[in-house]
Amino acid sequence: ATPMSIMTATGRGAQAGVLVKDAGALERMSRVDTLVVDKTGTLTEGKPVLSDVIPADGMSETGLLELAASLESGSEHPLAEAILAGASERGVKAAKVEDFEAVSGKGVTGSLNGSSVALGNAALMQDIGVDLSKVQAEAERLSGDGKTVMFLASNGKLAGYVAVSDRIKANAAETIKALHGEGLKIIMATGDNKRTAEAVAKALGIDEVRAGVLPEGKQALIRELQAKGSKVAMAGDGVNDAPALAASDVGIAMGTGADVAVESAGITLLKGDLAGILRARRLAKATLGNIR
Ligand code: ADP
Ligand code: MG
Repeated sequence: ATPMSIMTATGRGAQAGVLVKDAGALERMSRVDTLVVDKTGTLTEGKPVLSDVIPADGMSETGLLELAASLESGSEHPLAEAILAGASERGVKAAKVEDFEAVSGKGVTGSLNGSSVALGNAALMQDIGVDLSKVQAEAERLSGDGKTVMFLASNGKLAGYVAVSDRIKANAAETIKALHGEGLKIIMATGDNKRTAEAVAKALGIDEVRAGVLPEGKQALIRELQAKGSKVAMAGDGVNDAPALAASDVGIAMGTGADVAVESAGITLLKGDLAGILRARRLAKATLGNIR
């Protein structure tokens, strides 16, 4: 490939919303054999909607939502937005939380009116010793529908849980199918739980799922695949994807996601359109695929 043909290819990509950082990224894209994809915000819209509010005995729906919304006021996570929007639609106001902390890949914690409160996944509840056995079956049913369940604890006791559902992007299934046609193996890596992840993966025909993965875990997965000789592209949108994007042979960032993801990537899909992965691959192969 000549510098001219690479310039033509990057120009054509840019017109279609596929921004390629340099010739190297395009060349590596032509050789990739495995694609690792994040779920939330990458395969799904990333605009989850509050779908279920289930208080524990002695707690009201409003009370539970108020605690959840208060905790999420300090978070920028898409799940936080869903909870805040759902609370506001139901006329529930958030109160001020002290000592707010975001626990990467797990949830949020803080204190409210002298109680220590936490909202997040089962791993977070396990960390603070909250018993989930009573609600396990129902929570699993919700995640089996592809919903993300978040538990709320107050002073170490379960106060209830909420679920949000996040629609799979309209063109995700056909894009995954076409990427298979490009000979790529496709692995989902997500911080979300196994059931939710598997429900989405099954709907899309994804080959393998790594669920409950922390940001370092996503990066470790990339390294593990590379150590086996795979050439790996990683597509993601979040702060939690940045280390994996940087470690992969080609990082592909959703332009609709976090700035740090874009900075860590060789390719940016301006509108967050998944079909851009396919476009980038075909462009790369057409331009560079036949040189060694
Ligand atoms: P993904 O890898 O799918 O983009 P994350 O790593 O961002 O997901 O989050 C993993 C899990 O941690 C979420 O599915 C959720 O259960 C929990 N979590 C993360 N941030 C929050 C938050 N602000 N509020 C509640 N739960 C959260
Ligand atoms: Mg994400």
